[in-house]
Amino acid sequence: MEKREKILVIDDSSVQADMLRSILEGDYDVTVVHTAEAGLHHARVGNFSLVLLDVIMPGMDGFDLLRKMQEEVVTEHVPVILITSLRDAEYEERGLVLGAVDYITKPYHPPIVRARVNTHVKLYRYRTQVEQQSMVDPMTGVPNRRSYDLNCYNKWQEAVRFQQPISLCMFDIDKFKVYNDTFGHPAGDRVICEVARTATGCLRRSTDYFARYGGEEFVAIIVGSEAKAACEQMKKIRQTVEDLHIPHASSVGPWVTVSIGGVTVVPSPDDSYDTYLKIADTMLYDAKRFGRNRVVWSTARMEELQ
Ligand code: GH3
Ligand code: MG
Ligand code: MG
Repeated sequence: MEKREKILVIDDSSVQADMLRSILEGDYDVTVVHTAEAGLHHARVGNFSLVLLDVIMPGMDGFDLLRKMQEEVVTEHVPVILITSLRDAEYEERGLVLGAVDYITKPYHPPIVRARVNTHVKLYRYRTQVEQQSMVDPMTGVPNRRSYDLNCYNKWQEAVRFQQPISLCMFDIDKFKVYNDTFGHPAGDRVICEVARTATGCLRRSTDYFARYGGEEFVAIIVGSEAKAACEQMKKIRQTVEDLHIPHASSVGPWVTVSIGGVTVVPSPDDSYDTYLKIADTMLYDAKRFGRNRVVWSTARMEELQ
């Protein structure tokens, strides 16, 4: 069965809220709350596809809530339809300018409410699908470079804020040009997919991040592990790739392998992400230089682990 979209109804009047619920609950998973404060909390954490918001409520009113939702990253994209008995065009204008996608005045005709809700939920679903697709590498199914560019600084800033160790790791498939030249480009594509699948399978924590950086290169960001643990995890990925026993014909060995460079640091606000990414890249370069199919790591004290 297809998952039902979630709709949040915020209305201080139980009668009004129940009316909306009865109009929509045949098609949607409807949650009702009676204050703007509770509404804001639910909108933040509830993963709703649409909010139906009453304007006049005691305490924080609908306009205030709408403004707050527009200011927060987690709620700013959730479509809000205002439902109110305020028929004045000025109010309607105010709501729409604040960012509501639609404005319905009471008394309303239920089929019109349902039709408008359907339209906005459909648009929201379409939009989130497009957004998600734009972050995924179509070949491997892992996050793409665009996703990485959008996520890496947030991860770094979180590590700074919570004073947690963060590891930046660069992967590169060994002698891949030779692989393509020997086995052909389509076979090369399949190898890239296998390496992505293998690494993803080894990076299972919700805080782990893995993306295709470009070509036959990948990047991983691990938050919360000390250098030794992060390095061991990468060694496991390196070993798992080798153990796939995908035949190769290079000087490195009989199988497809990867080289990995990484660095772990508890970043201070003065540190720059780009500096550490460069260190990870240098470690990768060293891994290649030392013979490939290996992991080379740097700690914040610039000790090199192998
Ligand atoms: P090294 O061990 O030093 O990394 O050698 P290499 O041959 O892997 O390095 P190089 O950077 O010279 O070559 C990378 C190759 O990866 C060249 C390019 O054709 C191939 N490549 C990049 N993207 C793709 C892709 O999407 N599919 C396939 N099949 N090959 C790709
Ligand atoms: Mg490369
Ligand atoms: Mg390579």
